Amino acid sequence: MSRYIPETVRLFVAERANYRCEYCRIPAADSFFPFHIDHIVSLKHGGSTEADNLAYCCQICNLNKGTDIATYLQNHSTPIRFFNPRTDAWADHFEIDETGAIYPRTSIAEATIKILDLNHPENIIERRELIKEGLFS
Ligand SMILES: [Zn+2]
Repeated sequence: MSRYIPETVRLFVAERANYRCEYCRIPAADSFFPFHIDHIVSLKHGGSTEADNLAYCCQICNLNKGTDIATYLQNHSTPIRFFNPRTDAWADHFEIDETGAIYPRTSIAEATIKILDLNHPENIIERRELIKEGLFS
């Protein structure tokens, strides 16, 4: 399976995501670092480089996610998969308030928040500032 993602596919994935990280929702225009194209199911777990397995992703989320696809949570005996931007609706799994913190509605969101570290203090502050400026919806 090829890791190469053609530029036309990269552009399609970015536009489909409205140029926002599909996990933490930060706009690419407000990120200091260039965004990545994430393999939702990593190649090593059998994922493909087709658009339906790709997500637009900030560098922080992508580096924290790595090739992981699931994690263990307290009180769960089996791994809980991460949020899949292609098959899950963000608002069904997460909510955000004016503080900038992201809260889980589901165990899938809880697993995703944990491993991608969506509520790192710097991320919360950045989202809070964007919310105040009306740049984060
Ligand atoms: Zn992100």
